[in-house]
Amino acid sequence: MQARPGESLEVLLPEADIQARVRALGEQISQDYEGKPLLLVGILRGSFVFLGDLIRCVDGLMAVDFMAISSYGASTQSSGVVRILKDLDEELQNRHVVVVEDIVDTGLTLNYIYSQLVARGAASVAICTLLDKPTRRRVDVHIDYLGFQIPDEFVVGYGLDFDEYYRNLPNVCRLKIHRPSKEANG
Ligand code: 5GP
Repeated sequence: MQARPGESLEVLLPEADIQARVRALGEQISQDYEGKPLLLVGILRGSFVFLGDLIRCVDGLMAVDFMAISSYGASTQSSGVVRILKDLDEELQNRHVVVVEDIVDTGLTLNYIYSQLVARGAASVAICTLLDKPTRRRVDVHIDYLGFQIPDEFVVGYGLDFDEYYRNLPNVCRLKIHRPSKEANG
């Protein structure tokens, strides 16, 4: 695992643990939605690796759509500002929706998305997130399907980035930043 100058990586969740947990989540979703066609909504960009693995572990009829929400950019602190950069193409009326997110931190992003999808007439909206940092929550979010709870540390890999790098790592890693100009919050 190669890091950029001034940054270092430490494995927090190994690939095998992630794959086993994703399989279990897929099985749980398959059981819960048996006989009900699903719409999985991936939140770009961080969820795309998780979503790609997860859908192959879910049996049954499903459609997939994506939303893109404004993110932290090159900072590791939430601005609290949530903005839709790319909206869904699918209609939600009377559909069973599972939102697939990479990580819940303050909860502001998912809180906003959840209320948007409910307001559009979905039959049900459930939330599936790979990671949860509960200590940083600012608004309440009900998580239906959770991969792992993690401590308050900035993580990258398995789809999660810092400054658009590290999404390709197969593990979830802690990112430590040694440059004085940018500080990770872990
Ligand atoms: P929230 O609105 O819950 O504060 O933020 C959720 C979003 O913040 C995530 O979808 C992700 O884009 C970003 N985020 C929060 N914590 C981390 C982290 O530890 N690593 C990375 N790469 N992104 C994070």
